[in-house]
Amino acid sequence: MPSQPTLPMFSAGRHLLSVSQFDRDGLELLFDMADVVAPIAERRSVCTVLDGAVLGSLFFEPSTRTRLSFESAFLRLGGEVTTTTGFTFSSMAKGESIQDTSRVVSGYSDVLVVRHPDEGSVAEFAAASTVPVLNAGDGAGEHPSQALLDSYTLTRELDARGRSLDGATIAVVGDLKYGRTVHSLIKLLSVNDGITFRLFSPPSLGLPDSVAEHAHQHGNTIVECRSVLEAVAEADVVYATRVQRERMTEELHSQVRGNLLNRELLEQAGVAQDIIIMHPLPRDSRHDAYDLSSDVDGLPGLAIFKQTDNGLKVRMAMFLIALGCSADSVRATLKQRPWRADIDWELG
Ligand code: ASP
Repeated sequence: MPSQPTLPMFSAGRHLLSVSQFDRDGLELLFDMADVVAPIAERRSVCTVLDGAVLGSLFFEPSTRTRLSFESAFLRLGGEVTTTTGFTFSSMAKGESIQDTSRVVSGYSDVLVVRHPDEGSVAEFAAASTVPVLNAGDGAGEHPSQALLDSYTLTRELDARGRSLDGATIAVVGDLKYGRTVHSLIKLLSVNDGITFRLFSPPSLGLPDSVAEHAHQHGNTIVECRSVLEAVAEADVVYATRVQRERMTEELHSQVRGNLLNRELLEQAGVAQDIIIMHPLPRDSRHDAYDLSSDVDGLPGLAIFKQTDNGLKVRMAMFLIALGCSADSVRATLKQRPWRADIDWELG
């Protein structure tokens, strides 16, 4: 990963390009705001704090969750969303530069969310933008909003068990080379103390040295394991990742075979009933996929859908901070909702 220039802490009117823009206080502020908007994300109330604001949502790489979650977050806060997906439907297909596209669309929007397949490209986008840009993933580089919602989920899940993220042991397994969510998460958890990462990846898909180095420099520990079993056996949490086939050669991909993580393996390791199970999603659910098996879905520690639900709150909080809104301004625009969104809605 190329070294990044020092970026300012994330706050009103700032771009969000990297997890390095958060210290412990910044994270606490973001997480507190995520708690404030929780009733809105959970559709128990509605608010119009972003009335009149427009989000430009630009995804030049496939996405389901990240795009819909950012867009839903903005809509739930009362804003409007304009969107474009893929290169084919944008003027980049006509050879327009990142700089020109950025300058143009920032004239239409109050904030931009950008995903692009090239590492560093979202920062280039931000440099030409006149409004805050939030990085929704730049190639194999970073995915800060995912790391933020992962850290929020980890904190809340461990809290609920009377534990702290400081001192926790996290097994990180799968494609650690191209899995950008892992890069961002390990870097973000540098703000915590005494974390041990137990890593397992197939050959040639190991964690980049720069990410491991970052963890070491900030006092966290990296342990390389020879098997997934060894990685999870002493862990409080397991974070599994999909093989990023789109970022590797077919030859490399064909060498990755077998099961990554399933219920049997967790039982064998003696952690099936306790371990917190996380994954950034999508997981590859085809029967021969090297990924987190869906047979873990009934286990008590499954947190993968808590991550996606929390993602909405955390992304709402990111917008509120970027656009300079306080928790009080959210509360002041809370409204009664005349429509029903009952959890026990009679479906079927
Ligand atoms: N959704 C995550 C990402 O965009 C993880 C993945 O695609 O495997 O990086």
